[in-house]
Amino acid sequence: MNSASSEQSAATSGIEISGLHFAYRRGFQLSIPYFHVASGEHVLLAGSSGSGKSTLLHLVAGIDDASAGEIRIRGTNILGLHGAQRDTFRGKNIGMIFQTFNLLQGFTALENVMMALMLAGYSTSQQRSRAESALSKLAIADPHSPIEMLSVGQQQRVAVARAVAGEPCVVLADEPTASLDPANARAAIDLIKEAARTAGAALIVTSHDPSLREAFTRIVEVSQFAPTEAVR
Ligand code: ADP
Ligand code: MG
Repeated sequence: MNSASSEQSAATSGIEISGLHFAYRRGFQLSIPYFHVASGEHVLLAGSSGSGKSTLLHLVAGIDDASAGEIRIRGTNILGLHGAQRDTFRGKNIGMIFQTFNLLQGFTALENVMMALMLAGYSTSQQRSRAESALSKLAIADPHSPIEMLSVGQQQRVAVARAVAGEPCVVLADEPTASLDPANARAAIDLIKEAARTAGAALIVTSHDPSLREAFTRIVEVSQFAPTEAVR
């Protein structure tokens, strides 16, 4: 794919999905004719377990590949990028928060955030200053603590700091509250929304938990995406 076909005018911001089709070998399929999340917009992607929420986030992050369609982020079709180009694009533009945080044990909070910024192509001095700033905004008292010494709440803050330290234009959070009690779940959602707001990012949070619905003005059910082709 040449660069002309993977770029378009800056008119479309945030995340723009069109004509997307994905299928696991002999199994689950996901089709999305059109879906747009604007810069600064926050969306709850709801639906029961197994409905395809993680699948969609993995496609938006370019972790999985679709069989058809485009996912434009800041106008660039991430599915049209390959290998190191796609990894660098993801590092620069997409912040991800996972249910189990996916922080690297044996490294400090600061090192965890700096590593993400290194993958995004920042210089060592930029990695350090951005990581320190993100961790301090998220009230991490000791950025030099090994990850495993921090409480679960502090680890989640480090995961949020890692996701937003590079000021991505897209933040994706997959079931970020699944292991938290209701009070902490709402606090975590508020933290993620605030971090995304500060970065000016388009935010998609997935959850099967109906109690999170009141935290969002836009809620999309995965099951409401119509098939791209006429159904029989
Ligand atoms: P959710 O995140 O909403 O719980 P997923 O996106 O994880 O749903 O999964 C959607 C569907 O795809 C489920 O039916 C699941 O069993 C299936 N699925 C998930 N991962 C794979 C895989 N690696 N291979 C085949 N099927 C999968
Ligand atoms: Mg999931």
